[in-house]
Amino acid sequence: MMKKPELLAPAGDLKRCRTAVRYGADAVYIGGQSFSLRSRASNFTNEDIAEACRFARTHGSRIHVTVNMIPHEKDFEGLREYLMFLEKAGVTAVITASPSVMKTAAEAAPSLEVHCSTQMSVTSSEGAAFLAETLGISRVVLARECTMDEVRKITSACRIETEAFIHGGMCVNYSGRCTLSNRMTLRDANRGGCAQSCRWQYHLYDGDRELTDDNLFTMGSKDLCAAEYIYDLMDAGVSSLKIEGRMKTEYYVASVVSAYRHLIDEIAGTGRRPDPQRMAYHTQEILRGENRETWGGFYTGERGLKSLIFRPNSNADVKHDFYGTVKEYRPEKGTAVIETRNPFSVGECAEVLSPGKTNRQFVIREMRDSEGNMMTSSRHPMALVEVGIPFETEPDDIIRRGEI
Ligand code: SF4
Repeated sequence: MMKKPELLAPAGDLKRCRTAVRYGADAVYIGGQSFSLRSRASNFTNEDIAEACRFARTHGSRIHVTVNMIPHEKDFEGLREYLMFLEKAGVTAVITASPSVMKTAAEAAPSLEVHCSTQMSVTSSEGAAFLAETLGISRVVLARECTMDEVRKITSACRIETEAFIHGGMCVNYSGRCTLSNRMTLRDANRGGCAQSCRWQYHLYDGDRELTDDNLFTMGSKDLCAAEYIYDLMDAGVSSLKIEGRMKTEYYVASVVSAYRHLIDEIAGTGRRPDPQRMAYHTQEILRGENRETWGGFYTGERGLKSLIFRPNSNADVKHDFYGTVKEYRPEKGTAVIETRNPFSVGECAEVLSPGKTNRQFVIREMRDSEGNMMTSSRHPMALVEVGIPFETEPDDIIRRGEI
């Protein structure tokens, strides 16, 4: 049996945190309302953090909290008290991007693990060892810019744990070393305000001559999908595999976490790299939660233009696979009440994603509205629709398009 690394998932609120845990995350990282990036990611109140810890603990999972802004003078106000609160609430680790926050955490909340954020761009075992020896960190989140060879070398050379990103958004600059947003909008990317300026559309000029008459130019990175590299990361001894996306939806969290859970468990169980057919299946499952183009990141060793999106595409391709979540299963009728998200109709094939189970498909044969009237299709989001399902489902199970 191969050692299983932690699967670390993102959550922007309590609901998504519970979803991540239910679908198989060993740990979830969240952000409080202060000291964290992603200020628009509906961050957790202190009560939410305490509740997330309770929920995670009862399901054998853990909570990490991002304290990863690059702090300016006034940002230290209340930091000690906040770290002490996190320790008391049962948080396992804080993820930080500042030596001063690391030092404060070690002093104020000594039982909290301190993890060095990817924003510190650690790309060598010397860098990791220095932070471990001087500031007592127990884990380094490697820079996304490391190749697989570098991940192997750092993981085997340094005495602390390594964590590597496996999925989600990438920057075109070193993560956290970018001031595009600061300069163009005065929104500080390192204090949670990134306006994603790299994904905007630009006019390109050569002197006075415009080069982009018909098509504007954009330079965002494709998203990371490291499915092909999970075996290598596990073989290298990486302790934690991290999914990016605290701004992402409940559907993204459920489908991506569930798909990576199955992939990691399969590799750990067999001790082998999945054959091409299994790999294609896992990759397809992972990408069902994704709307952007993806690539294998710097693990590929390629630094080519294939990694960038030069033309606008981001939302052109938005999928409408997510039909809704189960609110209630009625065994006596063989139906489930679904809170809808996207349209679906009688006659379509649907699929149920349940935590820890193989995905199950069925054909929608019968639908009723909340007053019991028969329907042929559901068009409105957040409606309650009763659908016949020929097997048992649980509240919060995900219903999505079946055949793709
Ligand atoms: S503007 Fe783009 S490259 Fe810069 S921090 Fe934001 S997402 Fe990353």
